[in-house]
Amino acid sequence: MSTAPLKYRRILLKLSGEALMGNVDYGIDPVVISDLAAEIVAVQRAGAEVGLVIGGGNIFRGAGLAAAGMDRVTGDHMGMLATVINALAMADALEKQGGFARVMSAIKINEVCEDYIRRRAIRHMEKGRIALFAAGTGNPFFTTDSAAALRASEIGADLLLKATKVDGIYDADPKKNPGAKKFDRLSYDEVIARNLQVMDTAAFALCRDNQVPLRIYDMMQPGALMRILRGEDLGTLVCA
Ligand code: UDP
Repeated sequence: MSTAPLKYRRILLKLSGEALMGNVDYGIDPVVISDLAAEIVAVQRAGAEVGLVIGGGNIFRGAGLAAAGMDRVTGDHMGMLATVINALAMADALEKQGGFARVMSAIKINEVCEDYIRRRAIRHMEKGRIALFAAGTGNPFFTTDSAAALRASEIGADLLLKATKVDGIYDADPKKNPGAKKFDRLSYDEVIARNLQVMDTAAFALCRDNQVPLRIYDMMQPGALMRILRGEDLGTLVCA
């Protein structure tokens, strides 16, 4: 493997809740979370300052609960609490891999984790602790994609990474269209003009307005995170 110096100093990695499910139907697959944690600790040890946002879709999503008849805001509160559960699990997995982690929540739950305070988050990362930003933005009607774009902008991340199950952005669904074309690089405006569903619009607008470059990559490819940080062009880069 390449030992090139890291191209990015500070990153924000967004994992969906479903990323933690692996082969289980609900909740967290212990093997998958442990493998993901090992990759994250490796890049931190290589010198990256790492912030993490994890979704909650493996447990609850407010929109799904609302469709089943629940009040939407209550559903979103449950979704945000689900992200705290995932962040606690990931912090544990990171520490099992020898890393140091701090969970910071956008909703006050002081007995289980710290409050999100931007300067403290940056200090954690500078000291080699992986900062897990839990409870999304703390507000209903948002997603953890928006939380990732928000935190990446706040902490001055050099790169926002969105780990997905496909290896980048295509002009059509590659699972349904074998001829779908993958983009190596797109501008923010191209993503909007082509209506490519990279992230939700609020998230994407934040990245564009704050000039946070975004890379979409395949999290199932072992070592991909480290390769990207060393400068390889895996997945699709969205930038100005
Ligand atoms: N959520 C919210 N505000 C936020 C972030 C998340 O209300 O700022 C809720 C929302 O209900 C969402 C759920 O938390 O559906 C889980 O987050 P998300 O759907 O983004 O998780 P992912 O799809 O990434 O697993």
